[in-house]
Amino acid sequence: MEFSELAKVLAGIESTTQRTMMVKLLVNLFKKLGPDEIDKAIYIILGDVRPPWEGVELGIAEKLCLRALSRASGVKLEELESLYQKTGDVGEAARKALSKRQAQTLLAFAGAKRAPLSISQVYDTFLKIARTTGEGSIDLKVSLLSSLFSQASPEEAKYIARFVVGKLRLGVADMTIIDALAEAFNVDEGQLEKAYNIHPDLGYLAKVVLERGQAGLAQVRVTPGVPVMPMLAQRLSTSHEVLTKLGGAAICEYKYDGERAQIHIGPNGISIYSRRLENITHAYPDVVEAVRRSVSAKEAIIEGEIVALDPDTGDILPFQELMHRKRKHEVEEAMREYPVKLNLFDVIYLDGEDLTDKPLIYRRLKLSEIVRESEDVVIAKWALFDDEEKVDLFFHEAISMGMEGLVCKSPTSLYEMGARGWNWIKYKRDYRSEMSDTVDLVVVGAFYGRGKRAGLYGAFLMAAYDPKTDMFYTVCKVGSGFTDADLKKMYQMLEPYKIDHRHPRVSSRMEPDVWFTPGIVLEIIGAEITLSPLHTCCQGAIKPDVGLAIRFPRFTGRYRSDKGPEEATTVDELLEIYRNQKKVKLEGPATT
Ligand code: ATP
Repeated sequence: MEFSELAKVLAGIESTTQRTMMVKLLVNLFKKLGPDEIDKAIYIILGDVRPPWEGVELGIAEKLCLRALSRASGVKLEELESLYQKTGDVGEAARKALSKRQAQTLLAFAGAKRAPLSISQVYDTFLKIARTTGEGSIDLKVSLLSSLFSQASPEEAKYIARFVVGKLRLGVADMTIIDALAEAFNVDEGQLEKAYNIHPDLGYLAKVVLERGQAGLAQVRVTPGVPVMPMLAQRLSTSHEVLTKLGGAAICEYKYDGERAQIHIGPNGISIYSRRLENITHAYPDVVEAVRRSVSAKEAIIEGEIVALDPDTGDILPFQELMHRKRKHEVEEAMREYPVKLNLFDVIYLDGEDLTDKPLIYRRLKLSEIVRESEDVVIAKWALFDDEEKVDLFFHEAISMGMEGLVCKSPTSLYEMGARGWNWIKYKRDYRSEMSDTVDLVVVGAFYGRGKRAGLYGAFLMAAYDPKTDMFYTVCKVGSGFTDADLKKMYQMLEPYKIDHRHPRVSSRMEPDVWFTPGIVLEIIGAEITLSPLHTCCQGAIKPDVGLAIRFPRFTGRYRSDKGPEEATTVDELLEIYRNQKKVKLEGPATT
């Protein structure tokens, strides 16, 4: 098909105000396209040369596009630039530039005809531009593009220019294309959607339906190297609702606050895809290496959440710290400063076998068979519960450890690609609290450091005082906020307090590497005070078996040498702070 015909459809889509009209235009177009061009037309309409996970980019910014236009039209670059400045639309600049050329050419060669561009010609040039890399590639890209412009009409040039700079923006969604394909080729829309969830490449699927119809769709399979649409979760905010919805029992997993990763292991290596199916392998070379070491499978698709770690303490950091990975040139540095850990929670495909139609409990078992846990790859923390109290204990533990809550899953559920059903339920809080004041806590234990902190303590077990019992109750493990000098000082300062067993006046559920006689007091601030079964402070005061914990604690830098351990913040004061904390609404209402 000639590209001018596609350009007409694009103009039609642009000008219509009705979705039904959009679909109609697409249906008519699809019916006229051959198997060698339908995929190309669809990629052009969607504004991407290839599906997002292939990460193919043209590498053409507005400036380069204008250069190519100037070369093709003879219009001066400055003139084009000011045209672009005025409209802010490179497409409009292209249309105007080529109209000028046309006028000139018409004068020079009256009657001479331009050979029409085909869809394939245009698309293949786009692909060539994208694949031109390395030294001298910029010039080559510009000449490929300018020769395309030379053959284009002003109207065609408008769309070519918008496409190459990534601003076609027709607002055609994948679902719009699916609707149109189903109608054009008379295939069941549900079946097409199902195939799309398994293989979300619309160019590929269009060829399948055009050539093999409905029967072809039934043969679409999960394929390593092609990400599947991830299974999604509904949301509830009480354990009672969660267990009721899941039929009384649930596999409850920590809900890590990081970046979802769909990891494909195949003959061509390891690739990582995001929640939106973009290829994010380049951001996580360390995860690729860790997976290579820890996962024994020739071919597999596994899923997990990548979280950022404090390199000194190994503590999980809030999600924002992963942002350092987003800038390509900073990845090397980010790997050093913000190491990550992969928490695996599913396996979708394993050595030739599609596991999506196997129950979760089976997939979990398979996952533990192929994963050898290490410092940077672990299986997401989980447990099977049929009791609300136990779910809540686990929930509080997760929150106090810096998680967002739990993801509770039906043990018998299949992996429903692309579905947000009730087999996965996020159990999150509607509110989070804010700790506004510092507290003074006593060091009762310490954990040895790793990496830069090797040979020193990396984190400390901190406790509050209870004058009623004359005991110290733990409330957090803190490793953040200490400078190198602080850590050296702490090591020396604590030397005289070292003992080889828990001090009789200390109550703790945690087992540090070293115990101390309560003596040193530090000022600590945290994000909030939460419930936690891991700590003994105020245990049972709010809920049976659950104490209080400081979430994301850090040392303020202030040594309270002016305070003795019995002058530290008391457990009652902590309870008071817990009760009076300012509550902050968290995003999103709970769906029911
Ligand atoms: P979504 O549309 O994915 O629900 P969201 O940002 O609104 O997006 P979230 O509250 O982030 O939803 O919850 C779902 C996300 O939780 C998953 O996409 C995944 O990234 C993350 N997650 C963390 N731990 C787990 C786990 N154990 N199992 C499944 N997902 C998990």
